[in-house]
Amino acid sequence: MKFTFYGGAMEVGKSSIAMEHRGYSLMLDCGIKVDKMECPAQPDHIDSLILSHAHLDHSGMIPAIYKNHRIPIYSTKMTFGISHFLQEDSIKIARLKKQPLIYSDMDLANVQGSEINVGYLNEKKLNDEISFELYDAGHIPGSASILLNISGRKVLYTGDIKTKDTYLQKGADIPEAEILITESTYGNRIHPKREEMEKEFRDRITETLNNGGIALVPAFAVGRSQEVLMILRDIGYPVYLDGLSKDITRLFLEYPEYIRDPELLQDSANSAIWIENNNERRGILDEPCIIVTTAGMLSGGPVLHYLQRLHRNRNNGIFLTGYQVKGTNGRLLMDEGYVIDPLDNSRIRVEMEKHQFDFSAHAGRNSLKGIVKKVKPDTVIVVHGDPESCISFGEWLKGRVDKVYVPYVGDRIEL
Ligand SMILES: [Zn+2]
Ligand SMILES: [Zn+2]
Repeated sequence: MKFTFYGGAMEVGKSSIAMEHRGYSLMLDCGIKVDKMECPAQPDHIDSLILSHAHLDHSGMIPAIYKNHRIPIYSTKMTFGISHFLQEDSIKIARLKKQPLIYSDMDLANVQGSEINVGYLNEKKLNDEISFELYDAGHIPGSASILLNISGRKVLYTGDIKTKDTYLQKGADIPEAEILITESTYGNRIHPKREEMEKEFRDRITETLNNGGIALVPAFAVGRSQEVLMILRDIGYPVYLDGLSKDITRLFLEYPEYIRDPELLQDSANSAIWIENNNERRGILDEPCIIVTTAGMLSGGPVLHYLQRLHRNRNNGIFLTGYQVKGTNGRLLMDEGYVIDPLDNSRIRVEMEKHQFDFSAHAGRNSLKGIVKKVKPDTVIVVHGDPESCISFGEWLKGRVDKVYVPYVGDRIEL
């Protein structure tokens, strides 16, 4: 079998791997680099595609691939549901930023006809020699690691993976395989203890509210917003929910089988106040409250509306809930103390208190080592990380397994 890495190798973004075996060509994910709408190259021939999860760095290119290849696309029901929202949203953002569109609304509608829902642990045959099973990857609801069986040889592609339980999900389910293709986002870093961080997050927010301030909590729509709602559900101040997070919360509640404790999510969602329009937005900032909204890295969405109104008051606080990619507004805020409004390129100097919490949805370095020990592979291919992470994790693997590969984009590996 041959693997070609079209993207997501020595980088985070546009994950896209082709596997060829005796004339059959299978894609594992096909994403984009979200901030620049950068697309991976495509093979000339593709027979089918398996999608690990809905994030655009794994799914963002699929409508364009479908336009050219008309292939079946396999994933979980939840992943397809989420990816439709994210792909639609990416078209909206590209229009707003006047970036070229890589697919149209029509392409989006077309691709949905070729989506095949696959449940966890249901073996699916692609031809006489290739079959696969999806394992819960614990990263976001619906996310999967893909176990391929190719003429009896087992290959596990982790996708993005988290092994520890969170409020929203159980940790990953991990099978054994001879060949492991693993993400390494945190290949050189260890996460702080989740429970301690959750307590710190609540305490800092409570402090801001007790001092009469408003707490603005930018959060990713998929997973992070819902987790934050659960952490803050009984905090004793009003919690408002705004942006794409609302649609995704509804979707999570529609497919409760993918959620660790659907009742807790339902209670948390019910106890929040959902903001539906600008009128409601304008009416809520007169007293201490918490606003949970998109975008998680301040690239757009209602968070900028709130920031415009809250940024001058030092009593107010902004609480980032995840890693902030270089070049994003969130990173600019932490490094330079201001953000740029994408609508008119004006600078917003933020006087509010600034906090950042590392609520990661990825395995840290120690958990990645744990994954390798469970899978017991003889060959490991390290992908989906900055070069420092990929190389550092590749170094750790040397001597522990027979073969280690840390490919660059464009590399081919024959096994
Ligand atoms: Zn992801
Ligand atoms: Zn990813």
